[in-house]
Amino acid sequence: MNTTIIGYPRIGDLRELKFASEKYFRGEISAAELENTAKTIRRYDLELQKNSGIDIIPSNDFSFYDGVLDTAFLLNAVPERYTALGLSKLDTYFAAARGYQGDKGDVKALAMKKWYNTNYHYMVPEIDDAAEIRLTGTKPFDLFSEALESGIKTKPVIIGAYTFLKLARYKGNKTAADFVNDTAAAYSEILKKFSGLGAEWVQFDEPSLVKDMTADDIALFTSLYEKILPNKSGVKVLAQTYFGDVRDCYKQLCALDFDGIGLDFVEGKKALELVKSNGFPVGKTLFAGVVNGKNIWRNHYAATLNILGELKKYASDIVLSTSCSLLHVPCTLANETKLDDSYKKHFAYAAEKLTELAEIRKIISSDSPLDTAEYIRNQELHNTPRSGRNDAVRAKVAKLTAKDFVRVPDFAEREKIQKKCFDLPLFPTTTIGSFPQTADVKAARKAFRSNELSAADYESFIEKKIAECVALQEEIGLDVLVHGEFERNDMVEYFGECLDGYIFTEKAWVQSYGTRCVKPPVVWGDISRAKPMTVRWSVYAQSLTKKPMKGMLTGPVTILNWSFPREDISLKESALQIALAIREEVLDLEANGIRIIQVDEAALREKLPLRKSDWREDYLDWAIPAFRYVHSGVKPETQIHTHMCYSEFADIIRDIDDMDADVITFEASRSDLTILDVLKENNFRTEVGPGVYDIHSPRVPSKEEIKAAISKMKERIPAEKLWVNPDCGLKTRGNAETVPSLKNLVNAAIEARNENC
Ligand code: GLN
Ligand code: ZN
Repeated sequence: MNTTIIGYPRIGDLRELKFASEKYFRGEISAAELENTAKTIRRYDLELQKNSGIDIIPSNDFSFYDGVLDTAFLLNAVPERYTALGLSKLDTYFAAARGYQGDKGDVKALAMKKWYNTNYHYMVPEIDDAAEIRLTGTKPFDLFSEALESGIKTKPVIIGAYTFLKLARYKGNKTAADFVNDTAAAYSEILKKFSGLGAEWVQFDEPSLVKDMTADDIALFTSLYEKILPNKSGVKVLAQTYFGDVRDCYKQLCALDFDGIGLDFVEGKKALELVKSNGFPVGKTLFAGVVNGKNIWRNHYAATLNILGELKKYASDIVLSTSCSLLHVPCTLANETKLDDSYKKHFAYAAEKLTELAEIRKIISSDSPLDTAEYIRNQELHNTPRSGRNDAVRAKVAKLTAKDFVRVPDFAEREKIQKKCFDLPLFPTTTIGSFPQTADVKAARKAFRSNELSAADYESFIEKKIAECVALQEEIGLDVLVHGEFERNDMVEYFGECLDGYIFTEKAWVQSYGTRCVKPPVVWGDISRAKPMTVRWSVYAQSLTKKPMKGMLTGPVTILNWSFPREDISLKESALQIALAIREEVLDLEANGIRIIQVDEAALREKLPLRKSDWREDYLDWAIPAFRYVHSGVKPETQIHTHMCYSEFADIIRDIDDMDADVITFEASRSDLTILDVLKENNFRTEVGPGVYDIHSPRVPSKEEIKAAISKMKERIPAEKLWVNPDCGLKTRGNAETVPSLKNLVNAAIEARNENC
């Protein structure tokens, strides 16, 4: 059996690519220097995979920003507004990724969306009626050749034709079906080129096949590959699926002329069953995703051997693989110097997963697998009971009943009460919570963590930042203020650190989008609140102003979704444990005079199962109650806000209303406020603040632009239900763009308010 992986993290062990890219954006290094850093990372990763015993090593999994954006550039699917800027190739690419504001023009970035059920984000390709899909890029070929030069014949990885067309947004009248011929021709060309370069395997990533597929989808998929696969020119083509199973198209997938089929036996609930009941086509290679590409726990070899034992009955040629790209896990445990070994021995990051694959290969090819040292060691690890049990918490969760999830009085009654006691102007303005985490904030935190700054000095530094932030917001004229979240490195890690049951890593960075990385904490044991987490900062901030100060918390679903979860208890159980802890904090804030509390559920949509049939039972039936439980105990006059980073919640809009918050703010500007129609159609009850400008980009929105957004909002939502705010927190931005942006926002709201009277 050979081993392979679907893709490797591309940011570098110590986020070298992030730092180099950001330097490049700031004009501190040249394009050539950035390219050099990239090359070094790629070479290092290739060597690592080779030395770890990976037989089929991927290439083109590297990206300067995002693989879908790379594919759009490869296929000439780039809107003219970017090419027309007349920038270099690299800068045109970054303009599409991040927006551009400079002497050559002013354009917004492409829309960004969550990548399936992960916290990675991809750039949404835009295809208009005039688009000519054809092969224009060279990156996959360049990277293949680069690896070949260093002696490694790689398996190039490219987003597949079906997934690409499904992910694109069509701006004109044409749809995916209109681009089948051109797209198939471009992919055929890709195969021809790779054949010329001597590639053995080419991997087409087709994660869209694990979603619910209609008959039209299946037709689109088959018609593409019926046109592409006759042009294989001797290259072997792997259809790689991940994030679930392919129950809607397994037969078609097997019938097409692919040489390899990649299935996910970790997240694919029915993957094994599909193989068992339909068999696996003779002569093809099964790429078996058995090592979890999303979580950090060590593989349980006994369970994996069971799966492989079954698969061997149906497929004669199996390649051991990961369940998805390793992009979603951190690079290497080697840099986790502080974490105790009693925890660490349970972990496997990307580099360690490579070794796991090699070990599984060794075990399975042994005459006596269960006697191999690797197997025995693994069994011992999995037989050791883990610490962290809290029976009191478990008992509380077990005792929850239906009425614990209901806030009284009902929404309409509370809205009346709150309108009266807050007496906010029409279109109240606010922000989502964080203010720019400038270099001084990061430096102070670092100094504090390394004991160079005393706790007292650090705290007075944070207070000074809060005071400045409050003064700034008053000067700008915002209506509902925030303390700025300077004490937080991250909206989940911060809470994790205050909760018992969590453990932390030092360097477990995972790419979230572009150069942004997150460091998810690890749910190790049962969760409980060790101490108040935010009260002192919120109370201090409120003491500085007469305006309402929002208390700022992260909700249980998001905390869980942005952590590495346990696999020994259910997600529901973990979510309710966290909900218990956050509820204590909510009540504490309220008792200390905080009258508006925002409980962010930025990641609520993210883990919605990809298939509709799994939505309720696997997710919504516990996620929505977990949120409701957090705030069901507050007084009617306490206003509960929530925030979501992702506006694509049309399909669960009723569930979101059913979270029973008083106000929700969400990301909307990158998707042109398209969510408004959905809110209107569904008679959305919760007050809303659809983000009026995109904070992922450094450009400053004009007052007119924001007014136009407010007008659009007003046409669909009753004015008295509307809030005006940016898309998301401002922590990744600088003050240079934040201050003018917020001034424009407030002035736009004031003008709209005056016009409305
Ligand atoms: N309150 C958080 C912030 O402003 C929300 C961030 C988020 O939604 N990702 O940073
Ligand atoms: Zn957000």
